[in-house]
Amino acid sequence: MNKPRLKRVRRGRHNPDFTGLLKETLTAETIAIGSELLLGGRLDTNSLYIAEALGTLGIEVRYKSVVGDDRASIRRMVRAAAGRVGLVVLTGGLGPTLDDCTREAVADVTREALEDNRTAHRQVVGWLRSRHRKAGDVQLRQALIPRGATVLRNPAGSAPGFLMVHGSSIIVALPGVPIEAQEMFEHSVLPRLRRARKGCAPLIRRTLLTYGLPESEVEQQVMDLVPQGYGITLGTLASPLGVALSLTAVYDHVGQRRRRQSVTSNGDTPQDVVQRSLGAMRSRLGALVYGEGRETMEEVVGRSLAAKRLTLATAESCTGGLIGHRLTQVPGSSGYYDGGVVCYSNEAKVRWLGVDPDVIRIHGAVSAEVAAAMAEGIKRQSGSAIGVSVTGIAGPGGGTSTKPVGLVFVGLALHDGSTSTRRFQFHGTRDAVKLRASQAALNCVRLALVGTRDVT
Ligand code: AMP
Ligand code: MG
Repeated sequence: MNKPRLKRVRRGRHNPDFTGLLKETLTAETIAIGSELLLGGRLDTNSLYIAEALGTLGIEVRYKSVVGDDRASIRRMVRAAAGRVGLVVLTGGLGPTLDDCTREAVADVTREALEDNRTAHRQVVGWLRSRHRKAGDVQLRQALIPRGATVLRNPAGSAPGFLMVHGSSIIVALPGVPIEAQEMFEHSVLPRLRRARKGCAPLIRRTLLTYGLPESEVEQQVMDLVPQGYGITLGTLASPLGVALSLTAVYDHVGQRRRRQSVTSNGDTPQDVVQRSLGAMRSRLGALVYGEGRETMEEVVGRSLAAKRLTLATAESCTGGLIGHRLTQVPGSSGYYDGGVVCYSNEAKVRWLGVDPDVIRIHGAVSAEVAAAMAEGIKRQSGSAIGVSVTGIAGPGGGTSTKPVGLVFVGLALHDGSTSTRRFQFHGTRDAVKLRASQAALNCVRLALVGTRDVT
């Protein structure tokens, strides 16, 4: 779709009113600036966050690109972007060093002079002073902002950002450091967008997180539950953490968006329709669903343990502490996670968990028997209500025909005295196998807590 025709909004010099433009801004483009992003070592992650945040406001990212620290190249990219979308979000190149030339490139495109901006100047000096540093000429380059731009405060770094109108587009320039870009976007850009787009129907996206079935099978199970005739689409996304199912209501053009929100004869809004369909999918998928939206398996397991006042301990071989790490990423996890051991060698399994060396000798370290003994061992040693264990072959070497790379056993010793094990065959790199194994183990704990263990 072409860029919507927009009214040109008068540009105020110091406090421009973007409302008119932002109301109509349905399309966006992100441009990540930095030569390091083109060398293969570093990924542009800023665009992911920005696209997701814009999506919630119904602003669709149409293009995203990465460009090196070259003024002419940046100029070309920004000019092209401003010609095809309503909102251009740049990240990077706002630092003090000579390779940072985003300010200059935007000044070129907008034909505005760079000036030492008072607000920006104060911010740079203030930030450095708070770190007991003085602002020299080099640092003060960061206060050079194209004339007429609105300065955006950087709560997490020294480089201010800015926002300005160019023709019928808005150009936003944010720092490259992800935390700085995110904080500035969240505190200075999103509130403006939200205010301006009040009353516009947002893009609606709800996500169900599933674990245990391949993507195509999950989709098959729920396809008939997707509401027809409302422009609602079903998306699936497979990852080592499971399959995410999302329902999205897309408002594709201004006319549709301007219609009243009611889409059904009985007055239901798109939110109602999506919500009802999601509920039906959740019921059908049952225990395959572990969460919604941005929830993580470790949060879900943690909540469940806390609700049941149970504690957990971990015995990890091939995951090397990843399960413990994930559990402790959740604030408040000390309320239910006791701790664990990384028992990588056979000796460690014997010494720390009391696994019988004969069991290892007879069945091998990667076996259901050892997984069970590890889970029982950690439960006993820690005094926790539940012990969970993982033993497997993460690869790339170490596999055999009977025990191939990716073979993982999870053991679970429960508070009712029962012990069970599950066998998994994963694929992928060492990292992927470890992540899949950690997710599988946490899912086993989750299923045990909801009393369901018959889900594959
Ligand atoms: P800059 O603001 O261009 O000086 O960027 C500072 C640092 O932030 C760079 O060295 C990168 O390590 C990181 N960075 C810049 N842009 C991105 C991006 N789009 N995604 C992730 N990291 C980035
Ligand atoms: Mg840079």
